[in-house]
Amino acid sequence: MRHDGRSLARAGTRLTLITSTTGPRPADFTDVRATNLAVVLRFVRENAPCSRADIAASTGLNKATVSSLVADLIERRLVRETGLTENRVGRPATMLVLDGSPYAAAGIEVNVDGLTVVAVDLSGRQVLTLRKSFPGIGASATQAVAAVAALARRTVNRMVREERRVLGLVVAVPGLVGVEGRVRFAPNLDWHDVDLAHDLAAALRDPEFPIQVDNDANLGALAEHRFGPYGGAGNLVYLTGEVGVGAGVIVDGRLLRGGQGFSGELGHVQVDPAGPRCGCGRLGCLEAVAGIGAVFGRFSEGGPAVSPAVVAPEIDEVVRLARAGDRATLAVLADIGGSLGKGVAILANLLNPQAVVLGGHYVPLAPWLIPAAEAEARVRTIAPDAGGCRIVASTLGYGAAALGGAARVLDFIESGRLPTRP
Ligand SMILES: [Zn+2]
Repeated sequence: MRHDGRSLARAGTRLTLITSTTGPRPADFTDVRATNLAVVLRFVRENAPCSRADIAASTGLNKATVSSLVADLIERRLVRETGLTENRVGRPATMLVLDGSPYAAAGIEVNVDGLTVVAVDLSGRQVLTLRKSFPGIGASATQAVAAVAALARRTVNRMVREERRVLGLVVAVPGLVGVEGRVRFAPNLDWHDVDLAHDLAAALRDPEFPIQVDNDANLGALAEHRFGPYGGAGNLVYLTGEVGVGAGVIVDGRLLRGGQGFSGELGHVQVDPAGPRCGCGRLGCLEAVAGIGAVFGRFSEGGPAVSPAVVAPEIDEVVRLARAGDRATLAVLADIGGSLGKGVAILANLLNPQAVVLGGHYVPLAPWLIPAAEAEARVRTIAPDAGGCRIVASTLGYGAAALGGAARVLDFIESGRLPTRP
């Protein structure tokens, strides 16, 4: 108990540090030991390979407590020892790295043209990535639940065959998801008030792992924050480049949700009062002017509308024309990049992010969108050089939101909800 008592005091001194990241908040503290285990687990993730002495020196926990906590983490197979290092003063120390191989964290991304699942082990290594076509537009919410449940079942079966236990599933949806996890409105899927987490749990016959639902942009931002090259940035915004444009916002290391969970709807900020009508019914929203639908609208003027279900081959064609230097194509992309820059300027003026990461279908178009977007953002931001905000393409691929779902499961674990011993 003496150790725990000290740990409590020590843990208290560390709180201000922890709360500045996506780590545990004081409201989460129900068990000091679980909290301290989480502190050590996070330290190992961020500093591996590291020794017990490194952990003690940096966290303020005493050495005996650290030894006890590390023994517990090793027993749970969350951390493992990896040889000795003599590259330090004094006795050689046994180094520690993350393990977590008997576990998996899963995320599924629902989109207008497909479902993507990503599973990672607890060290963040991807152990499964699958994409399945799915008519998000035109399918009812009931059909969508059945399709997501089938993919979740397949994922769980695969993980079980690999002797991994699934610790959680987070589903990414392009729409308004309330803080309680209900999908209030997903315009591009035509979903209204769908309790996806509850319906999925029923379809999967109440699995032992938790199922949660979140907005796709939020999860894309979490993926960038944990796995992307700008992960060290405490302030970044992820923009989905799908039919919809959503912003996942990380401020001071934490995801910004707002009062009811509806923050980040940058796609519905009006950037052109004389612009085209948006899917939401308003005029000149960023999404209507610079979303992927708008890109195709500009190329198919007078022709048949492009179905969102065939976005990928159409994007390839736009890229081919841009590479060939087709002037009309370059002009349209520069124009759309400029509109995107207006949206980025709003973010830069309000939030001063270090980076705005373009995701989804924006990625292949980024070489032509970014120069115009950066120029426009610089002109419209009061801080010099857009407050240092860089506009970059995501390197995480099309499943970024699914990866973010898995990242959110890892966040839960690192905030103290550790798995029991395998
Ligand atoms: Zn709108």
